[in-house]
Amino acid sequence: MERRQVLQLLAASASALAFAPARPASAAAATAATAAAGGQPRKVVVIGAGILGAAIGYELSKRGAEVTILDRAGPAAATTGDSFAYLNASTKASSRPYYTLNWLGMAGWHAWQNEPGAPLPLKWAGSVYWRDDAAKARQVAETLATVRGWGYAGQPVDAAQIRRLLPGVTVPGAPTGTFYPEEGSVDPAEAVRALLERAQQHGATVRYPVEVTSLIVEDSQVRGVRTKDGELRADTVVIAAGHGSQALAESLGVALPLTASTGILVHTAPQPHFLDKVVFASHNTFRQKVDGRVVISGSGHEGGGGPGSSPEEIGRGILASAAQYLPQLRDAEIERVSFGQRVLPGDSFPIVGFAPKVSQLYVAVSHSGVTLAPVIGRWAATEILDGARVDLLDEGFRPDRFA
Ligand SMILES: Cc1cc2nc3c(=O)[nH]c(=O)nc-3n(C[C@H](O)[C@H](O)[C@H](O)COP(=O)(O)OP(=O)(O)OC[C@H]3O[C@@H](n4cnc5c(N)ncnc54)[C@H](O)[C@@H]3O)c2cc1C
Repeated sequence: MERRQVLQLLAASASALAFAPARPASAAAATAATAAAGGQPRKVVVIGAGILGAAIGYELSKRGAEVTILDRAGPAAATTGDSFAYLNASTKASSRPYYTLNWLGMAGWHAWQNEPGAPLPLKWAGSVYWRDDAAKARQVAETLATVRGWGYAGQPVDAAQIRRLLPGVTVPGAPTGTFYPEEGSVDPAEAVRALLERAQQHGATVRYPVEVTSLIVEDSQVRGVRTKDGELRADTVVIAAGHGSQALAESLGVALPLTASTGILVHTAPQPHFLDKVVFASHNTFRQKVDGRVVISGSGHEGGGGPGSSPEEIGRGILASAAQYLPQLRDAEIERVSFGQRVLPGDSFPIVGFAPKVSQLYVAVSHSGVTLAPVIGRWAATEILDGARVDLLDEGFRPDRFA
């Protein structure tokens, strides 16, 4: 079977899964569906225009809801704009439900790619991993064995194969590693702008800078939001505000424990195209965006630099380390060094669904939010508009687990 057919099959089977009948509605969600069936489109305010807010806003507006997306800064102004944005499920091998969710997220990007509207800056050329350290190389091989057992496409590769897969990259030594041919990446800020444009074509309103200062609650039901510009009434409010989500939810007594961890990335000026894959070399992770810019981190996703170093020094340090793989970029112009704040839920798993205590308040917060955006967007729309309850989200991803 050709690679393109494999990817189409992946997208088709995931679409089928994504549209699989959901479980019967909870009482609160059933009320939502009844109200929506009353003739008027359901009014939904989405707080946050990062990747999750854009995804949910797009899916809701596609389904006919009257959507307003608000952001206190602008599209992709927070974590999403600083994301590495690797689309994968192979790094989720520690939990089968989480892996499945991410696999559906990858498939959802394929489905979005085939939908009309602003194009999405995606690359689907796979990823290559290798580690010099024997114990870490064993981990890479174990992960491959686990995800292959779940039906994921991946294969072991030797040094010669790695070099053939990465003609623009210097591969020192004789490492062995893994190639995942169906993984990809997306340019996250551009993807947010495209999704917002698509949502607007379906009638959504996008407003920024508009900060939501509090939520309007009457009779234990959310009725809208207060902003510095005034109130906005809604049937449902979605909190997709990344690190801003905790304060909003907790102001209503809804526990939403989040922590942050910093991920440093160097963003070079556009370069001639030489790399189509995502690369996890022993000491650096890198990929080239559709616009030619190269994004590089230090070990894993962490970046590096001594205490007190300036962003420029940290960036130069990362480029110097990466020069063992990318000598042509040693002196490349650095456009930006980003210090992204990962949104990490208390137990590291996504928090998606109606909040406890307050009716019609929906929450969507996650790490790996770029991979997961399509599936979280689609299922949030299913739960909000159809009053259904998607069963995979009950496998450890609901907000009430922190109650
Ligand atoms: C270095 C790094 C590498 C990463 N690598 C990957 C990866 O390879 N793959 C992957 O899938 N994920 C990755 N992630 C994680 C991913 O980027 C995040 O999970 C995702 O971007 C979160 O998106 P979000 O929409 O939830 O939050 P954000 O992008 O933070 O968006 C929230 C928005 O809400 C707005 N907001 C907040 N409070 C309010 C308020 N009160 N009123 C109005 N607006 C408000 C903010 O301005 C912001 O724009 C990485 C993250 C980092 C930092």
